[in-house]
Parts: sequence; structure tokens; C-alpha cells
Amino acid sequence: GDYVISEFAQRLQRWNVYGAMLARVNGDEFAILLSGSFTPELVSELCQNILTKMRDPIQLFDSQLEVTASIGAVIANSNQPDRQELWHNVNLALYHAKSHGYDQYQIFDPSIFTNVMSKNRIEILLKQSNLEKDYELYYQPQFSLPDRSLVGAEALLRWKASGLDYISPEIFIPVAEEIGYIHRLGRWVIQDAIRQIQQWSQNGQTMFVVSVNISPIQLKENDLVDYIQQQLSAYKVDPSCLEIEITESVLLQLDAQTKHMLEQLRKLGLKIAIDDFGSGHASFGYLSEFSFQKVKLDKILINRTPKMSINEVHVLRTIIDMSKQLGIQTIAEGVETKEQLMVLEYLGCDQVQGFLFGRPVQVHEFNRLFLQS
Ligand code: C2E
Ligand code: CA
Ligand code: CA
Repeated sequence: GDYVISEFAQRLQRWNVYGAMLARVNGDEFAILLSGSFTPELVSELCQNILTKMRDPIQLFDSQLEVTASIGAVIANSNQPDRQELWHNVNLALYHAKSHGYDQYQIFDPSIFTNVMSKNRIEILLKQSNLEKDYELYYQPQFSLPDRSLVGAEALLRWKASGLDYISPEIFIPVAEEIGYIHRLGRWVIQDAIRQIQQWSQNGQTMFVVSVNISPIQLKENDLVDYIQQQLSAYKVDPSCLEIEITESVLLQLDAQTKHMLEQLRKLGLKIAIDDFGSGHASFGYLSEFSFQKVKLDKILINRTPKMSINEVHVLRTIIDMSKQLGIQTIAEGVETKEQLMVLEYLGCDQVQGFLFGRPVQVHEFNRLFLQS
């Protein structure tokens, strides 16, 4: 780790022909302060240039490390900028960049962030929030191909921050993770999803699986398995109705503790899905290290349809075929168009989820739209 950080620092110094002020803020975070006049285009170019420099593999002993950076940038447009505000905005831009996967940059743009509050404010609101009253799970349907029958739903967290505008989970989950609030929040999500499965099965809906997103930080909780088991038996829910989604990035640091945790969860009878597959650097090598039941193909893999290059189609086909060989189901996320659906169907993808079929909605809406016979 230390080696990588010093290597990055040196790369930044070599990049710095501009006389920028360079600083290491903490851990693996660096800051760059450039003065002069800048257009967004110019800042974009600088960011891309830095990302390219950072992307070069690092040679360490016998191995090549692939490390990437994420960048948040802000252009100060007055002579006396409010330093604190600049710092908040740059952090928000960074969060935004990170939420789009590895190796990304984001320039702070007030139009995207008008409704977004500072991280500190989110932190305070999170700590004051009431788990029972202020949160709600929305559900997005999942369908099988080629028959298009309902096979599952993903539970997606919504925060009803009272009196305020909508705050995306992409913004508040990273803050909740940072301040440790994710432990309580994540448990509420698990419990509420299990309660909902019970309700659905009482209404005769037993065929579908509900998936919940689990933060990598929750996988470090020693008693997570016990907690899930308790909730399942309290609500008399069959473990096979519950699936957990862990992001691809977990695979990159699959330590013994995490691996043990995943094994226990699987023994309990839960399904485990790899989320956002294809958005970063995880490869099939990681998949074979552990038996997952499902791979969720990231929207980035199908985004370019119908203008997909033949190579992009090959990549998608290979992922789907190899998953089949390994006995892993595939589900494509973010399916928005008929063209995307056609490609996926043609390549033999097992399931689909996306706006084309249905957005995440409240339970009563889900029942009305998808469960009425
Ligand atoms: P994710 O797990 O990748 O969830 C899929 C996201 O894509 C959802 O955003 C969903 O609304 C959106 N989506 C679904 N279909 C489409 C489509 O066709 N097109 C496009 N453009 N987007 C689509 P959402 O609900 O805003 O959630 C964002 C992220 O926040 C999730 O990404 C997940 O990483 C995180 N998240 C949400 N709920 C939870 C939770 O309960 N726990 C944890 N740890 N993370 C959560
Ligand atoms: Ca997910
Ligand atoms: Ca995803």
C-alpha cells in the first residue's frame, strides 16, 4: 500500500509541469491546486491525462498491480472562493466519480448538484434519521428470458429525508459507510426485505427471489450471518427466497474473512450475486475462486447498443458463455431499449432488469403493476 501511494505521488510530480500545488490529504487521497483560468474542457483534459498516468500497471516484486484513481474536480469562479464550500464540492464530485466505477473523473457542476447537500449535512441528517420512519425499500422487477416471466425483484433503498429533496443512495450510502451508519441501516434493509418476502408469500407469491444490496463493510460484521438467520426464522422465510448482491470490487480484495463470510451465507441457503460485473477490473479468475450463483452484468456493457462494436459483442458473449460453463446465472442490468434486449436474448442472457421492464417502485405499485393476475 505504501509503495503504491509513493508511486502515485511520484507520478503526480512528473505530471506536474504546471506548477500546481500538490498535497497528500490523507491515506490514499491527493489534492491538486492549480491557478489560472480554466474551462471545463481544459479541466477534462487534465483529468484524463492524470487518469492515464495513474492507470499504468505498477511493477511490484513479481507482480503487476493494476491500480486506478478517481478524480473529483471543481473550478472556482470568483476571486474569493469560500474554501470550505470548494472542499465540499470537490468531495461531492469525487463521490459522484467513484459511484460510476473505477477510473472516472467528475467535474463539479452545480446543475447536477443543486439538490445535493454537503457531506457534513448528509452526515448530520443520517445520524438524526429514524430507521423505521425515514426509509423505504422500492422494488424493481427482474424477468427471465426468453419467456419474460417475473422471477425476482431487487430491493433499492430510498431515504425520505424529511422536508428535503430526494437524495440518491449513490450519494448517501458512501457517507453512511464512512461514518459506520451502514451497519444499522444495512440491517434495517435486510429485515424489511425479509418482512416483505413474508408478506408476498402469504399472498401466494412464492416463486420469486428478492435481492438486497450488501455493502462490503457489512461483510466484515462477525454476526451478520446470525442476524440474517434470526430474521429468516422470525419471519418464517425460506433462505432460498433471499439473494444478496455484493459489488464486483469485493472480489478484488477477497480476504480470508470475507470469503469465510460468503461461504457461511451460502451454507445458510442464500443466493449470492456479483453486482456491477464488468464495471471495473474483476475477471473470471475471481469468479472461479468462489461459487456465486449469479452475475449481474453492469449497464456499461450494454450501453452502446445498437452501436456496439463487434468486439463489445464478443466480450458480452464471452461473459455469458463462460458464466454458463461455470453454472452461474446471468442478469443484465439497466436494460432500457428493445435493441439491448434483442442482443441479450440473442446471446442467451438468462434474465433482465431495467427501465424497459419496470423502474424501482413502492410495494403497492409493484403489486399493482407486476403481481396482478
Ligand atoms: P445498483 O445496485 O447497481 O442498483 C441499480 C441502480 O440502477 C438503481 O439505482 C436503479 O434504480 C438503477 N436502474 C435500474 N434500471 C435502470 C435502467 O434501465 N437505466 C438506468 N440508467 N438505471 C437503472 P438506485 O436505486 O439509485 O441505487 C443506486 C445504488 O445505490 C445501487 O446501485 C446500490 O449500489 C446502492 N444501493 C441502493 N440501495 C442500497 C441498499 O439497500 N444497500 C446498499 N449497500 N446499497 C444500496
Ligand atoms: Ca444492486
Ligand atoms: Ca448494479
